[in-house]
Amino acid sequence: VDNILLEYFNYLNQGNKIIYNQFNTIDFDLYLQFSDATIDALNLIPNKKNSEGSLFNTINFTSTAIGKRYLLYNILHPLIEVEELNERLNIVEYLNNDFILSKQIGEELENIYDMERIISKISDHSANPKDLNQLKHSLIASSKIFELITNSQLNSFFHINIKIERLIEKINFLIKEDATTSLKEGNFINQNVSEQLDELRLLANNSADWFDEYLKEQQALKNATNQIVEIEKEFFSNLILELINNLDLLKSTSQLIAKIDFFNSLSILTKKFYLTRPSFNNEKEMNIQQGYHIVIKNLVENFIDNDTNINNNEFIYLITGPNMSGKSTFMRQNALIAIMAQIGSFVPAKSANLPIFDKIFTRIGAHDDLMQGSSTFMVEMQECAYALNNATENSLILLDELGRGTSTFDGMSLAASIIDYIARHIKCITFFSTHYHELAELDKEIDSIKNVFVDAKEEQGNILFLHKVKDGNAQQSYGISVAKLANLPFEVINNAKNFMQKLDKVELQQTKIEEENQVLLAIKSKLYNLNPDDLRPIEALNLIYEIKEIIDRDDN
Ligand code: ADP
Ligand code: MG
Repeated sequence: VDNILLEYFNYLNQGNKIIYNQFNTIDFDLYLQFSDATIDALNLIPNKKNSEGSLFNTINFTSTAIGKRYLLYNILHPLIEVEELNERLNIVEYLNNDFILSKQIGEELENIYDMERIISKISDHSANPKDLNQLKHSLIASSKIFELITNSQLNSFFHINIKIERLIEKINFLIKEDATTSLKEGNFINQNVSEQLDELRLLANNSADWFDEYLKEQQALKNATNQIVEIEKEFFSNLILELINNLDLLKSTSQLIAKIDFFNSLSILTKKFYLTRPSFNNEKEMNIQQGYHIVIKNLVENFIDNDTNINNNEFIYLITGPNMSGKSTFMRQNALIAIMAQIGSFVPAKSANLPIFDKIFTRIGAHDDLMQGSSTFMVEMQECAYALNNATENSLILLDELGRGTSTFDGMSLAASIIDYIARHIKCITFFSTHYHELAELDKEIDSIKNVFVDAKEEQGNILFLHKVKDGNAQQSYGISVAKLANLPFEVINNAKNFMQKLDKVELQQTKIEEENQVLLAIKSKLYNLNPDDLRPIEALNLIYEIKEIIDRDDN
C-alpha cells in the first residue's frame, strides 16, 4: 500500500520531489466520523473564508507547533470509546486541580521548537547546525517536563520511560551554541572536540605576518580552511547518523510532548471559559444545562445560555423561530459540545450528560456548488440523502432550514417526510430548525418530536430577539419584522404587509377549494360503480343519508 501511495503522491507532485518518511494509516471506525461539509458547516478548523470564528482558534491554547498540530488532529478525529474519553478527562481534571504543575509545564513548553519538522529534516539529511541546537533546547525542555510529570500522579497516565539525556549531551558537546544554518563555512563544531581541528583553526587564525607570508607561499592557509570544514562536516554527519539511529526515541519524545501540550491546552481552556466535565450515557440522552456556543459567546456581548433535554422518547428537536433568532447557533452549539466532549475536553455548559455519537451529519447553510453545476437545492438534497443513507441510531443529524431551496409547499412536504423517516427508521438524535412554524404541527403525528422555539417578541412593530430556547412552537414567522431591521424602504415593508393579507385570503380560498374537492371525491367514490336501476327504494334513501352525512361532516 505504501508504494502505491508513494507513486500517487509523486504523480501529484510532478517535478517537486517530496520525501515521505512514513505513512500513518487511520482506521476511521475508531473515530467519530463527519464529512468535509460538516467540518465547514460547524467551522471546526480555520479555512480560507473564516479563521477567527473557528472552533480550533477559540479552544487552542497550545504552546508548541507539535501540540497545535495534535489538537487540530484531535478536532478532526474525536474518539468513541468511553474509557479513553474518561481517561482524557481525568488528565485534564488533574491539571485543572494542580495549577502549579500546569503552569510549570506551560513554561517549559515555551522552549520547544517544531520537533516534528526538525526530526523529519534529520531523517532526510537536510538538517543544519542551528536545527540541532533547536532540537537540543527542545529535548532539554522535554526532559524537564518528563521529570515534572514523573514526579506527579499524572505519570500513571503517561508512563514516561524515555531517556534523552545522552542525546542532549552529545549535541551539546559537538555543536556550538551560536551555530548558524550554514554548513559550508564551518565554525559550528565546538573547541575541544578534536585536537586536529583545534590545531588547524590555530593555524588558520594565526595572523603573524611572517607566518602569513610563509603560508601563502605554501598555499596552505586555504588548505587549512578547507580541511577545517571537511572535518566539521564529518563530525556533523556522524552526529546526524547517530540521531537517525535514535529516530524512534526522538519521535516518541515529540509525540509525548505534543500530547502533554494538548492536555495542558485543554486545562487552560477549562479555566478560561469555565467549562464543565461531561458525563456519558448509552441511553440516547442528551441533557445539557446552560449550554453555550463557545465561539459565538466569545464574540458577542450577552450570550444567552440554553438547555437541551433529549431522551429516548423525544429525540427529534424541532426548532422553530424567526430568522435571526438563534436557531442555527443553538443547533451548532449542541454539535460542538458533543465534539468537544469526544475530544476529551470539558464542555461549554453548566452540566452535560451526553451519548457518544458515531457519526455527525449536517445540512447547514447554502453552499452553492457551482463548479459542479449543482444548484443549492440539489446540494441540499444530496447532503440529506447522504445522512439518511449512512446515519445509525447512534449518529447525530443537524438539518438547518431544510427545504428552503424550493417552494414553500414542496419544501415543507419534503421536510415533513424526512423527519418522519428519521423517526421511523434511523431513530437518531436530530436537530431540525425551520422558520416554517407550520412544521411544528408534526409533533401531533410523530411522537419522537419535541417542539422548541427560539423566543422573540414584537414591540411597536419592531422585533426583539430573546435568543431563549423554550418548549413549544413559534406562533409567527416575523419575516416582515426581520426584514424591517435590514433597513428596507418603508414602502417595501408596508406593501409586504398588504400582500401578506391578500395571500392569507388566497390561502384560505385555496384551502376551501381543496376541502370541497375532497367532498366531491368521497361522493364520487360512493356512486362510481353503482347502477341506479339495481337499487331498491330503501337503499336509495340510505345512500342519500350517507351523502348528506359526508356534506355535514365537512361543514363542521
Ligand atoms: P437563525 O438561525 O435563527 O436565523 P442564528 O443562529 O444565525 O439565527 O443567529 C443570528 C445571530 O443572533 C447570531 O449571529 C448571534 O449574533 C445572535 N445569537 C444567536 N444565538 C444567540 C444567543 N443564544 N445569545 C446571544 N446572541 C445570539
Ligand atoms: Mg439559521
